[in-house]
Amino acid sequence: MGPELIAPPIDSRRAKLAGRAAQQIIADVIELGWPVGQVLGSESELLERYGVSRAVLREAIRLVEHQHVARMRRGTGGGLVIDEPDVDAVIGPAINYLLRVDATLDEVFDTRIVLEELVAEIVAQRAGESDVAAIRQTLERESVGDVVDYRLLHVQLAASTSNPVLELFVELFSRVINFHFNDTDALPADFHREVHRAHEGLARAILTNNPGVARERMRRHLSAEADFVRRQPSTVQRLDPSEALAATATDKRGEALARQIFADILGDPPGTFIGSEATLMSQYQASRAVLREAIRILEYQQIALTRRGPGGGLFVTAPDIVALTDVIAIYLRRRGVKPRHLEELRTGLELAVVEHVAAAIGTDGHEGAEAIWGSLRAESEQGLALAFSGGEDFHSVLGRLTGNRALQLVHRVTMRLGWQFFSQFSLDNPRAHAISQPEVIDSAHRGITEALVAGDTELALMRMRAHMSATSPTAI
Ligand SMILES: [Zn+2]
Ligand SMILES: [Zn+2]
Repeated sequence: MGPELIAPPIDSRRAKLAGRAAQQIIADVIELGWPVGQVLGSESELLERYGVSRAVLREAIRLVEHQHVARMRRGTGGGLVIDEPDVDAVIGPAINYLLRVDATLDEVFDTRIVLEELVAEIVAQRAGESDVAAIRQTLERESVGDVVDYRLLHVQLAASTSNPVLELFVELFSRVINFHFNDTDALPADFHREVHRAHEGLARAILTNNPGVARERMRRHLSAEADFVRRQPSTVQRLDPSEALAATATDKRGEALARQIFADILGDPPGTFIGSEATLMSQYQASRAVLREAIRILEYQQIALTRRGPGGGLFVTAPDIVALTDVIAIYLRRRGVKPRHLEELRTGLELAVVEHVAAAIGTDGHEGAEAIWGSLRAESEQGLALAFSGGEDFHSVLGRLTGNRALQLVHRVTMRLGWQFFSQFSLDNPRAHAISQPEVIDSAHRGITEALVAGDTELALMRMRAHMSATSPTAI
């Protein structure tokens, strides 16, 4: 069932204008260098600057408030004040998304291994004296049993990459895995000893600057952990909504109500009627103001949508990776993500995607192949940018064919940021122009497709690697 089955809100033109104004506000905040606490302007100044009606501006402000980009302060010295987006404002929606698409523990573990292999490789290439001290201290604490959270080393290593994308997703996936399994009391006595031994081996490879070995040890360590968690009787393959929603807990009543409604409608198909304003107010015993705040959050997180007029009310919408990608991309821009960070991830991710797709095509025959050929047609008919924004381009279709929703999310965010940087640079850059020639891209995509369809995974990987270095954003 597609979103077209759900009638749009009557004022969709206003919603569209508000979305565009919100994007302009965010672009201005990024351009200013994100000075937290600075006033962007009073309401009348903003009305003039963005050339929109008061109703549209207020809607736009609500959007940027939810993304923690800026908030309206009333009174003297008031106006739209630049805010600090925090990691929870991103992780909450990301967990909600994984929950709604029913991502399994295997998908999350699998993606975590892809990312942490990269972390091990990057840190092993660069580890310096300050890393030595920090890593040794953590190992020392582990050996005397002073560490309660054995994920500490992983978080520390991710931070050592100084790559905001890796840091965010390592944190996200390790929190998600915690929801599936966090009963550390149930762990056997030798479990921590084994983890510690694996960490020591990993640290040795990193501190002797041996990236290949570090990668291998990280993979082996996390695979062992995944096997262990999977074997535990208390482990569930699918996220428990009450656990997942706890991650977004705040004390605001509107948000609390949004979480409650979300839990109640989880599993209902898109298009399901949730209720009218009046019935929801009585069902949840909420005031109109609190209910409206809850509805705004549900709408913002693409969980539900209001349809006005007779027979109107709140309806369930389809989970939307595009909206979530925007939220994550904005947060990462604030954290100072640069093209070189994407470069570190891009090749590793695309190679992982190719491997997954090769395995999927091998099992379900020509259906996947047909989708890839379709993406090449979409790219030549619509152009790359338009095909990408509709999620119909070559890389997005490959991402979807992996069948791993967690991997697809990281992949989509990385591509989205890549496009943002690329469109910034390409305006007046001859090299960017040269590497993005449609016929060059098309022949690279075609070559990878042919290898995939022929079942030659090695050749497909080799061609993807070559395609990634030919289109490297840092080479521009
Ligand atoms: Zn570990
Ligand atoms: Zn490409």
